[in-house]
Order: sequence, then C-alpha cells, then structure tokens
Amino acid sequence: MRTADTAEMIRGAGLRATRPRVLIYNLLQAAGGHLTADEVAGLVSESGQELARASIYNVLDDLARVDLVMRADRGPGTAIYEVAATWHHHFVCRECGRVTDVPCAVGSKPCLDADVPGAVIDEAQIIFRGICASCADSA
Ligand SMILES: [Zn+2]
Ligand SMILES: [Zn+2]
Repeated sequence: MRTADTAEMIRGAGLRATRPRVLIYNLLQAAGGHLTADEVAGLVSESGQELARASIYNVLDDLARVDLVMRADRGPGTAIYEVAATWHHHFVCRECGRVTDVPCAVGSKPCLDADVPGAVIDEAQIIFRGICASCADSA
C-alpha cells in the first residue's frame, strides 16, 4: 500500500500516522500472513529501518486496538498479528505450529455470546487446535 494511503487509513482509525505505524502496517500487509512481534521486528530491520523492540510492540498494540491489525494468540505467550479484511478465527497445529485461518460464521466481532453479568463483551477469539493435514499425513 502507498505510504500516503496507509497514513490516511491510520488517521481514519483515530491514530496519528507516525512513521513507525505506517511502516509496520505496510510490512505486515506485504507479508500477508500471521507474524509474531519478533518476526515483525525482523522485517523492520530487513527494511533498513531502526526501531526499538518496545516501539514495535507499542505500534502493534495500537494498530490492534483500533482493529487495523488483527491479533490472536497462537499459544502461551505468542501473539500473532496480521492485516485481515474480515474477522476470522485460527487453527493452530500442535505439531508444526502452522496457523490456518478459519472463517467465522458471523464474520464480525463479537461472534459469540457469553454470560458475564454486567460485562460489555466486544470480542471472542477462538483457537482451534489439533493436527494439520500435512502433519497427519506424515504421521
Ligand atoms: Zn502441522
Ligand atoms: Zn488469520
């Protein structure tokens, strides 16, 4: 995406279009998959830019908070980030760790009702776990 378009979109989401936000959004979008913060940091340094690890985490947080980037938990302590057109869920293979998108029947957040008295729920993330087709084949 062109830098100007990305900046415009970030402003449209109510954030200042800082250089790190524009850079990280563009890198994530170009990568086109599920990346950990460490992998994003790798892309940032490959792109020749210098950003502190803490700023990268902050930018990912900011972009996820305004729904420009989707965040999901791949496993304990490992969040993955992606630029996604529609809300969806994930299947994570227990063997190889591969992350596969799973369409959401509802398509927008929150897609599940939960009985939490008094709480305003805005998101339900579902992680499906098991063995993926290629790991099942090689078993
Ligand atoms: Zn697998
Ligand atoms: Zn996904």
